[in-house]
Amino acid sequence: MEVIVIRKRIKNMYLRITREGKVQVTAPLRMPDKTIREFLEKKRDWIEKSLKKVPETVHYDYVPGEIHYVYGYPTPLKLYKSQRNWGTLEADSISLFIHSEKTDRKKLYEQVAGEFLYATASVLVKKWAPVMGVVPGNIKIRKVKSRWGSCNVKTHDLTFSLDLFTKPRDLIESVVVHELNHLLEPGHGPRFHTLMAHWLPDYKERSKRLNSFPREFV
Ligand SMILES: [Zn+2]
Repeated sequence: MEVIVIRKRIKNMYLRITREGKVQVTAPLRMPDKTIREFLEKKRDWIEKSLKKVPETVHYDYVPGEIHYVYGYPTPLKLYKSQRNWGTLEADSISLFIHSEKTDRKKLYEQVAGEFLYATASVLVKKWAPVMGVVPGNIKIRKVKSRWGSCNVKTHDLTFSLDLFTKPRDLIESVVVHELNHLLEPGHGPRFHTLMAHWLPDYKERSKRLNSFPREFV
């Protein structure tokens, strides 16, 4: 088993599984390797169980007929020649219109996914902001590995992970509500969760489901 060990000026050891499915230990500066190994041995069951839960990252070639997840649905990709690079989303497929052989199809797909996700997130932010009584800032879509979204409580800007494009809309909604909720409560303490349960009683179930889809954009 490959383990990443990070040494820091801390007192206790921390264990986590990264989004990419790596085992990572953060340990105090002078802790002996042997102690870390013993710690990992004790946690073996938990590690093995957690690794099984990490969604796989699928490799895509962006060729015709390839199945991509779009808003939670397995969706075939179609490719067409065109005067300019663009893309569309239909009920049963996602299409890329490609200008030349040299076009980077992955990049174009990301751009198209980003535009659709931006529109989806905007609709959801517009729906929820007045309900929650918050004033959102700009919406940004980024390729983020470590989290589904973030909220800048100073500027009120909201950032969403591009990978949400592959997730069902109700799960995107739970991320939107989570980030807007930070405008009412910056931390993840009890008040944050009480508010979340008020807006979306099933928010916990939704965030669990977020990890059950394969990742495309990492
Ligand atoms: Zn949060």
